[in-house]
Amino acid sequence: MKLAFCALLLSVRVACAGLEKYSALVVADKDASAPLPRNAIRVTYLGVNGFQFEADGHALLVDPYFSRVSFWSAALNRPIEPNRARVADGLAHLQPRADAVLVTHAHFDHLLDVPAVMERTHAPLLAGASAVNLARALGVPRDQSRIVQPGSAQTIGPWRIHVLAAQHDRLFGFVPFQGKAGARSKAPAKPSNWVVGEALAFVIGAEGERIYIDSGGVPGYPPDIAIGHVDLAILGAALPDSRQRFAEVVRQLQPRYIFPSHQDDFFLPLNRGFIFNELTNFPQLLRTHQKEHLPGRMVLLDYFQPWTLR
Ligand SMILES: [Zn+2]
Repeated sequence: MKLAFCALLLSVRVACAGLEKYSALVVADKDASAPLPRNAIRVTYLGVNGFQFEADGHALLVDPYFSRVSFWSAALNRPIEPNRARVADGLAHLQPRADAVLVTHAHFDHLLDVPAVMERTHAPLLAGASAVNLARALGVPRDQSRIVQPGSAQTIGPWRIHVLAAQHDRLFGFVPFQGKAGARSKAPAKPSNWVVGEALAFVIGAEGERIYIDSGGVPGYPPDIAIGHVDLAILGAALPDSRQRFAEVVRQLQPRYIFPSHQDDFFLPLNRGFIFNELTNFPQLLRTHQKEHLPGRMVLLDYFQPWTLR
């Protein structure tokens, strides 16, 4: 089974390009050091589904992941751990402190680095039960980690955070590393120990702007209509399921801007620059957006290039 899985993954690993072809869609502030105006959120993309949001002198992190373990570690399910040097390099681009780290689900490409990031930024973790239980098993203090439920809302600093239930997309018909982690979980060691847990999406509001973020989804489960329209929709778009649900999500959220996230090859280090993952299909998203006359402007973000949403 494992060998068949590897063969399948290998068969689709062909060279893919970066953002050059889409430079007209890439947004970034002209002067990254300019002070952040009021009524704005600055968005910095960290790769995979990782973000720093800044507003009113505060920072918030979602799914920060810098270690980017190798393809073979993941495919062969070898023990993995955070790469301290890569985490330090990534954090050097960000604010030294953050109000919180939000995690969409417990897979390693969303959670592996979170304990190390928390240590450096003094940010508490807000996530589903499995992600919090795994983080605690790795030594994150109880009082620094909070299990959040879909339907709940949290106010932290300038941030109003609504927690929503989400679906994880399937890889070759199955949700990878399915399962939940209970309160007595052992510290995860192999990629498969970072089980998906409870997939969440968030609506993050501050300074009059609203951002929706998920890490992907499946067709037939659009976000709750009660969310209303958002300024920026960050939609995980790593796999075919996410592409199939793209139009329904965009129609529901009526965003001003759309950033299809989780499209990069996250087995390569960040210093290689943005390279599309072989399983993504950004041209298809562009075609869908155009053909179905979807609202909003499609944008792309490059690693660590801040963009002010206003
Ligand atoms: Zn995942």
